Amino acid sequence: MTNVPYPWQTNEWDQVQALLDQGRLPHALLLSGLSGLGKKQFALHFIQSVLCEERTGNGHACGACRSCQLFVAGTHPDFLSVSPESSNKPIRIDAVRKLIDFLVLSPSLKSRRIVMIHPADALNVFAANSLLKTLEEPASSALLLLVTDRPVVLPPTVRSRCQSVRFSPRVQSETREWLYKYLGDKKKADLALAQAHYAPLTAVEYADEGYIKNRTELIALLLNLSKDKESPGVLADKWAQSLDMSALNIINAWIRDIIRIGSGVLVVENPDYNETIIAYGQNSNIQKMFDCLDLSLWLQTQLGSGLNMALQLEAFFIRYRAALK
Ligand SMILES: [Zn+2]
Repeated sequence: MTNVPYPWQTNEWDQVQALLDQGRLPHALLLSGLSGLGKKQFALHFIQSVLCEERTGNGHACGACRSCQLFVAGTHPDFLSVSPESSNKPIRIDAVRKLIDFLVLSPSLKSRRIVMIHPADALNVFAANSLLKTLEEPASSALLLLVTDRPVVLPPTVRSRCQSVRFSPRVQSETREWLYKYLGDKKKADLALAQAHYAPLTAVEYADEGYIKNRTELIALLLNLSKDKESPGVLADKWAQSLDMSALNIINAWIRDIIRIGSGVLVVENPDYNETIIAYGQNSNIQKMFDCLDLSLWLQTQLGSGLNMALQLEAFFIRYRAALK
């Protein structure tokens, strides 16, 4: 997945390049927007270009200078990437102390010391507070890039001290063309884009054979449930072990489409099941469907919490089945 910036990121690229060219680059940028738009790849590409000793005319890194070589090798002395130790873990205050120490030192090669925090919403409250002082009184050479899918999770005091670069999905021909070329299958690409809310890199995940198989199986189970071919308890036991964020995303998308039909809107995320969803949507209790969606969204926050998922899932399936009738 090369060729960053991607075709749907040209406005954002022009924005940061203009800041750089005009010498107006702030000390902190907040890169935010839907997951799957390639914000992290964009950030890395931009950072390499800021550090590059021979930027090209259109602002890209040359890829050949000493700085670029060190950056690509992951050993650039003026760049630090800060992430949680593992997903679902917070970024702690120790990591922020380390980055503060890093930023006060003089640059080794060019004029900048750069830190990328990804995902910035993983900063816990102590870490975010500790970062504030650096955002208020940064060293002149410091540049921070905070990358997040969920900017609202960050304290307003942190957000307000960063210049915002917002990424949006774009339903434009260049985006489709990129995905058609990448996947080599227009039908698959269109379906994946619809499921991914037009976030192309998420669409790439949704076009994966394993994902497609899981989704097909999951939807078949939901259909069996609605036809009373399987009981909520049996289904819940089958599923509880393999329940993850991706499975719940599939369920959420399914319910949202039923709600859309019940509210007089079209199927958006599951166009391949259009007729089934229309039939469900016209016969469902929409308020109860909203309750199902709330429960499913809540379950996503409880993954890995030690909660008895089989029990919760059974409750969810009972509620879902009742909402259909
Ligand atoms: Zn270079």
